[in-house]
Amino acid sequence: MPTGQVIKTYNGFYYVLEDGRELTQNPELLSCRLRGRIKRIKGSVVTGDMVEYELLGDGTGVIEKRLPRKTLLHRPSVANIDQVIITFALREPDINSLLLNRFLVLAEWSDIPEIVICLNKTDLLPASADEFVKPYVDAGYRVIFASAHEKQGIEEIRSLLKGKVTAFAGPSGVGKSSLLNAIDSNLSLTTGVISEKIKRGKHTTRAACLLPVASGGIVVDTPGFSAAELEQLDKNLLAGYFPEFRPLIEKCYYNTCTHSHEPDCGIKNALAEGIISQERYDAYLNILQSILERKKAY
Ligand code: GDP
Repeated sequence: MPTGQVIKTYNGFYYVLEDGRELTQNPELLSCRLRGRIKRIKGSVVTGDMVEYELLGDGTGVIEKRLPRKTLLHRPSVANIDQVIITFALREPDINSLLLNRFLVLAEWSDIPEIVICLNKTDLLPASADEFVKPYVDAGYRVIFASAHEKQGIEEIRSLLKGKVTAFAGPSGVGKSSLLNAIDSNLSLTTGVISEKIKRGKHTTRAACLLPVASGGIVVDTPGFSAAELEQLDKNLLAGYFPEFRPLIEKCYYNTCTHSHEPDCGIKNALAEGIISQERYDAYLNILQSILERKKAY
């Protein structure tokens, strides 16, 4: 049976790029419906999924089977993302480090293989942000400084995109669309006043779509992923989503340690010694608290 990748979905149709064809600006896509038995399972096929389909005589297709996924991001649902570039602005809006940490945990939880931080609008920042990024660099994340307006960091992002499917995540207004347009003007994503975009967003439910980048790679066209779902996380796994905490967990005296109030905790000891940052530890406690509160609510 032939296979391909779902490039976009719309109104019950799944637009598939047949294997062997190239994703171009105006790709030739096969419009497919879902076979009844997979249709009944909500979210069984989403943008980015690899599928097996049957060709019908009228030039359309029927998706028979979804192939195993490498990764799955929610809201909007996109499968098989190789990389996420978590984008924040240094100013306008001011960077919110707790939200940045929530996005990082979301990406770690979703098992995205490459996680990169991009800090945009360097043109608005008079001083260096090296101090701010230190905990993230120490945790092993690559940090890119960019300015969509001054074309800073654009070449670095272009080279990161090559050969991968990349999603840009981050709050509204930080410049994700502006960066994508600076990377490839053919993408022509709408940028602009935040409130107008939100207004428009209310009227249109846009599903994610995969777009080719002229210099190589594929990006997910989406207004951004929500980091609101972390409350669903298993609290016992949370510390493992902070890469620099991982080797410390086994040093805890209690194997049920939540790294909050217990004595002889590997993570708290590392915090006291300055090995991990207060900001990252506070973000851990904050997310832990929201998981515990959600549990109480049920
Ligand atoms: P998105 O919601 O993350 O896609 O953000 P947009 O790309 O729509 O940008 C939001 C606002 O920030 C727009 O008014 C942009 O002109 C502005 N903006 C984007 N990038 C930069 C930048 O590098 N520097 C400055 N000063 N403003 C920017």
